[in-house]
Amino acid sequence: MSCKHDFKHIETLYRYEYRSYGDGLYVRTDRFFCTMCLEQRDVEKKEMARETPSWYKKEVR
Ligand SMILES: [Zn+2]
Repeated sequence: MSCKHDFKHIETLYRYEYRSYGDGLYVRTDRFFCTMCLEQRDVEKKEMARETPSWYKKEVR
């Protein structure tokens, strides 16, 4: 029997790595876990950019 998965968001991690000549690697990881089987799942988004991508900025609450 496979789990139907009910993923809940735990946290979002932001990471920046400087590369060269002003370029950097922006990484955003959204971390989820299933409330039924506790499986963890990370969704990672990466982009090499000179300026901060819009999806990287932290939400203002
Ligand atoms: Zn599950």
